[in-house]
Amino acid sequence: MEDNQNEIKQKIRVLLKNAWLLLLLLPVILLIFAGTVAARISDNEFAIQIQMKGESELEVEYGSRFEDPGADAFVSGTVLLKQPQRVDVTASGFVDTGMIGTYSMAYTAKFGDMEKTEIRTVYVVDSTPPVITLVSDPDSYTLPGKTYQEEGFSAYDAYDGDVTDQVVREEKNGVVYYSVKDSSGNLAQVTREIVYNDEIAPELTLLGAKTVVVYVGSTYQDPGCTATDEGCVNIASRITVSGSVDTNRVGSYVLTYRVEDDYGNFDEEQRIVHVVKQPIAGKVIYLTFDDGPGSYTNKLLDILKKYNVKATFFLVKKGNISIASRMVAEGHSVGIHSISHDYDKIYASEEAFFADLYGMQKIIYDHTGVTTYLMRFPGGSSNKVSSFNPGIMTRLVKQVQAEGFQYFDWNVGSSDTSNLTSKQIAQNVIKGIKTTSKAVVLQHDIYERSVNAVEEIILWGLENGYTFAALDYASPSAHHGVNN
Ligand SMILES: [Zn+2]
Repeated sequence: MEDNQNEIKQKIRVLLKNAWLLLLLLPVILLIFAGTVAARISDNEFAIQIQMKGESELEVEYGSRFEDPGADAFVSGTVLLKQPQRVDVTASGFVDTGMIGTYSMAYTAKFGDMEKTEIRTVYVVDSTPPVITLVSDPDSYTLPGKTYQEEGFSAYDAYDGDVTDQVVREEKNGVVYYSVKDSSGNLAQVTREIVYNDEIAPELTLLGAKTVVVYVGSTYQDPGCTATDEGCVNIASRITVSGSVDTNRVGSYVLTYRVEDDYGNFDEEQRIVHVVKQPIAGKVIYLTFDDGPGSYTNKLLDILKKYNVKATFFLVKKGNISIASRMVAEGHSVGIHSISHDYDKIYASEEAFFADLYGMQKIIYDHTGVTTYLMRFPGGSSNKVSSFNPGIMTRLVKQVQAEGFQYFDWNVGSSDTSNLTSKQIAQNVIKGIKTTSKAVVLQHDIYERSVNAVEEIILWGLENGYTFAALDYASPSAHHGVNN
């Protein structure tokens, strides 16, 4: 027991000895602590901080809506406020976006008797260039080589208003440049591509007549034509001529003059040159045959060949048209009669008639290479079968000639459409021939009886001093009086 007591006493002594040491150090520790606190208080006085949202200098577009981004304020600076405390901010100032200028916005915060203000500078500026608007007519175009005719433009600036009269215009290499600056120096530029076009066709004018008659073996001098384009600019050098005239061969020749501008507009004119024989002196028989070729046409051609007699054939389509090439090869004339030979159709209108006429001309050309302008009206020009269309023959006889055709009637009939003998037909023809020195005889080579009458007619004619000839454009036309 005594040992234990001694041990405790020993420990207490050590403890007391250390406590003394502790008491000696305590003031030093307190001094250090106090110094730290004092230093902290002196560094962290109360302070207001204003934090602007957004930049402190702002540019705002003229005319736009200004939205103040505002500011936040905080108080901090004491050990009592470990976290900054938010305080109210009052914004003052005014930004007039309707007026270019420099504006200030002030943000003020108060805490106790403290107050702080920050200023934001706001510049109201015009950075938007004017807008140039071009008027454009989709149908408008500029003729090549001409100055562009302004279709119109306007310029408007959001700040300056209408600045149309300040627009500077320059035309260069097919482009019009428009530019204008507003009072803030903002530049607007637009361009217009000039649409060059030409919808005006040139005009071709024939010199001399549309229809010309020259004698076979003579020299043909073409009088030519002239051509002008917009504003009567002479473009005669651009005329091309197609077709040619063979003055050594009786026939009709078409010369086609054409002039075309750079834009594909063109004009065309035709001249028909009829190469004809010199007038035949004395008594002449022109044998003509309608409505073929028929089954007896080759037989007829054999007879004509035997006597070297030339005749004329007014052709229809339904015949054996391939025989037409033999006619041409053997020196006969081919003329147009009709495609359909249907009176109700062809005399229904001028359009219908000419469609039939030109159609048959083309068929003959396709089979012979001959463009014929010789024609005979179905029923003759004196027909009354067309009377369902009053006056049409009166109109057609003029129109076909205006188009370069010559129509032939006849002054000697044969009555071969009646059921006569060949002998009777021949006698009818001979009787008629005796009444005229230029006999234009009408027969139809689709009737064997008529074909068989031809040899007798030829023999009679040759014995009585007649010349047989094929018709050409200048031959006696034996026109009837028009009855409709
Ligand atoms: Zn007929």
